[in-house]
Amino acid sequence: MEERSVCLDGPSGAGKSTLARLAAEKFGFIYVDTGALYRSIGLHVWRNGIDSKDESRVAELLPDIHLELQYDDEGVQRVLLNGKDVTDDIRLPPISIYASDVSAMPAVRAFLLDMQRDMAARYDTIMDGRDIGTVVLPNAGLKVFLTASPNVRAGRRYAELVRKGVKTTPEEVLRDINYRDSNDSSRANAPLRAADDAVHLDTSRLDLNHSFEKLCELIRERFGL
Ligand code: C5P
Repeated sequence: MEERSVCLDGPSGAGKSTLARLAAEKFGFIYVDTGALYRSIGLHVWRNGIDSKDESRVAELLPDIHLELQYDDEGVQRVLLNGKDVTDDIRLPPISIYASDVSAMPAVRAFLLDMQRDMAARYDTIMDGRDIGTVVLPNAGLKVFLTASPNVRAGRRYAELVRKGVKTTPEEVLRDINYRDSNDSSRANAPLRAADDAVHLDTSRLDLNHSFEKLCELIRERFGL
């Protein structure tokens, strides 16, 4: 039921996925990371050597793509692209740019829309993305728009990549964040935007525990949990 869903939208690196995963675990919701779906398409495009801005060739590839979401015992989402687990591959920095480019294409967004709505129809979900509250689940029970300043987001993303052993620099991560912010906000189709009825949560000055407490408060209030 869409009404029993939480939308967590916001720019890259605002902390959406960490908070959504923790909240889903606490309240027994299913966490749906929609960025992983766009990243999987970006990965497939990249692997096929197609330019990430070549709209007609990307559209031609879509019928060859089959995506599936699975959850392990800890509730961690795994994405299968044509039967193969790509959960780790889609996190590599070049794939972020590919995901952002292909996500501006109407054919790609239409391709993923039903899959996302279907998840919310089957489960109580916490779904994170860019257009969940505005386009995917306009009737969701709770919409939160999560933000933080670009420098804070870049710092968090850099630390996360270093932890995962990805070779990068703080400058490269900030460039990537700025590129994606401008790409995601300026596209004509489903741009990154807060829904009119979204609650804004700025985590620039909040650590993870405080941000999580705020989100839990909103969920408890809205769903009476
Ligand atoms: O959330 P994440 O950073 O993994 O998403 C990767 C890219 O996918 C984003 O930069 C954005 O361009 C795109 N995206 C989107 N709509 C969503 C989720 C992600 O356009 N709902």
